[in-house]
Amino acid sequence: KDEPTRVTAESEINEDIDEDVDIGFQFEDTSNIEVPKLLIDQVLGQEHAVEVVRKAASQRRHIMMIGTPGTGKSLLAKAMAELLPKEELKDILVYPNLEDLNNPKIREVPAGKGREIVMAHKMEARKKAQARNMLMMLFVVGIIIYSYFVSQLLWGIIAGIMILMLTRQFLPKEEMMIPKMAVSNYDKEHAPYIDATGAHAGALLGDVRHDPFQSGGLETPAHDRVEAGDIHKAHKGVLFIDEINTLRLESQQSLLTALQEKEYPITGQSERSSGALVKTEPVPCDFIMVSAGNIDAVQKMHPALRSRIKGYGYEVYMRDSMEDTPENRKKLVRFVAQEVVRDGHIPHFDEGAVEEVIREARRRAGRKGHLTLKLRDLGGLVRVAGDIAHSEGAPLTTAEHVLAAKRIARSIEQQLADSYLEQRKEYESFLRKGSAVGRVNGLAVMGGDSGIVLPIVSEVTPSLSGAEGRIIATGKLKTIAKEAVQNVSAVIKNMTGTDISRHDVHIQFVGTYEGVEGDSASVSIATAVISAIEKIPVDQTVAMTGSLSVRGDVLPVGGVTYKIEAAAQAGMKKVIIPKANEADVLVEKAYREKIQIIPVSSIAEVMEHSLVGPRKNTIIEKLKNITKLSFDIPEVS
Ligand code: ADP
Repeated sequence: KDEPTRVTAESEINEDIDEDVDIGFQFEDTSNIEVPKLLIDQVLGQEHAVEVVRKAASQRRHIMMIGTPGTGKSLLAKAMAELLPKEELKDILVYPNLEDLNNPKIREVPAGKGREIVMAHKMEARKKAQARNMLMMLFVVGIIIYSYFVSQLLWGIIAGIMILMLTRQFLPKEEMMIPKMAVSNYDKEHAPYIDATGAHAGALLGDVRHDPFQSGGLETPAHDRVEAGDIHKAHKGVLFIDEINTLRLESQQSLLTALQEKEYPITGQSERSSGALVKTEPVPCDFIMVSAGNIDAVQKMHPALRSRIKGYGYEVYMRDSMEDTPENRKKLVRFVAQEVVRDGHIPHFDEGAVEEVIREARRRAGRKGHLTLKLRDLGGLVRVAGDIAHSEGAPLTTAEHVLAAKRIARSIEQQLADSYLEQRKEYESFLRKGSAVGRVNGLAVMGGDSGIVLPIVSEVTPSLSGAEGRIIATGKLKTIAKEAVQNVSAVIKNMTGTDISRHDVHIQFVGTYEGVEGDSASVSIATAVISAIEKIPVDQTVAMTGSLSVRGDVLPVGGVTYKIEAAAQAGMKKVIIPKANEADVLVEKAYREKIQIIPVSSIAEVMEHSLVGPRKNTIIEKLKNITKLSFDIPEVS
């Protein structure tokens, strides 16, 4: 029996991982790396988006950014605000309207002027009040002196007090005329950047506070209760809204109006408050909108708003990864320096530590020859490593600190996967030894960055009525299961003569959990089904992942590295992966020694490595013939 070709972790794959991270230049530590002053120059890997932001800033266009969280969308929006001209900034003042107190007036003045105006009004109010006070005092003193001379002193004092009390009423009236500063850009270094993500209507569009003392002369005047919204604060600047689709439809509609009119009156947002009676003149809100979200967000957003952005702006797609070139590695060095400077409390990184961060960026890219651009998470790693170094009182952060940080800074999903693993090890919900018919250890990914063993059990029975059989599966994975079974049905029919459409195929995912992404379970499902039909046991020390084509080819899947690590952690001895994914494997050293990695390109090879027992070889021979045959079928394009 000839030995199957195996690529062990020690041979090819090893080289990939141990490959030195060549930064391409020498530096002692990141304190020697210059951090650009402008935010736009700090953004890395998103050259296209940077170009669009520059262009949009000079033309005052809106932008819609689509992409994964943590790739720099809000950073770019902030950077855009820095690029906008500061000279155009304005202050916005609210004045009482003497003709209609519920319709306060709005005035726009150059930035910084608003403060002066309010000050001047206050001074004047004070002066007027003082003058009036003086006059009143003189008047009262006059009365008292007069009453003394006409021997009516008591009445004189009483009259004086009454007059003084009445003037009290007048004093605040002066102050009531002072305009309110709704938006101030006094001393701002650059145009405003306002993050309105998740803002409720009042915060977004402005509000008028409720006044519990509406009558009796004690009330706060209407104009003084007006509060500017984010759209007004962003006047001449940038309004950033992430996850735009979560904004209520009414708010999206109002936002659209604001975009079109470039002004929007402020009114009380809660219907039954006294604020709802008040509505100001239109308040300027000439902002650039930068909205963001994943592709789903775009589809769910208000169509009119979407088309407005499309028609008057740009849509950019954020990249998830960049090529692993010396130039890009250099950018990551600068990234580490930036994050250290931004944090301000952690020690700079030495060369070894930066190398370790770059290695992690490679691993997280999950794609051959690429570096991740999910830099928020990578920044998290930098901070945790820095914190560890700081707590040890180390002058620099070193590779050891980064490695320690990697162990600590695990995502919630990874921690969840760990706890599942713990639980299921206790209950032995997956087997790690021996063999079993119709049972396969599949692999899946949770939350994008943690693998999990997903046991699959299959049972095949002749359909009850003798008519069309059914595919019986549970949970979210049903569609995948159906597809997988349909894909293999042709292969199975040729191989075993079993017409699967006359059978009921039961597929059970043992313990299906929230958040499992199961796109890559089809090879495992097919294996389980074939094993169940043929009653050939499956080796339980093997875990597998891969997507299956109709012709029996094993196609590449995502997250192989995480899946391999999960298999190793669960105590599996071998893991079958698609050959096309071989280069994506960047497994941590600790796991590499534990598990043998077997890249395959066809279902026949999967069988070869996973089935056990004497009847295995006949099946494989048949399968090989079938898949070979199918290769002869001309491609239809
Ligand atoms: P998003 O808005 O896409 O969710 P952020 O812009 O808030 O992501 O990114 C969070 C942090 O991650 C930034 O403040 C920055 O430190 C870092 N970061 C993310 N993407 C980049 C990038 N492309 N270049 C430099 N730093 C980045």
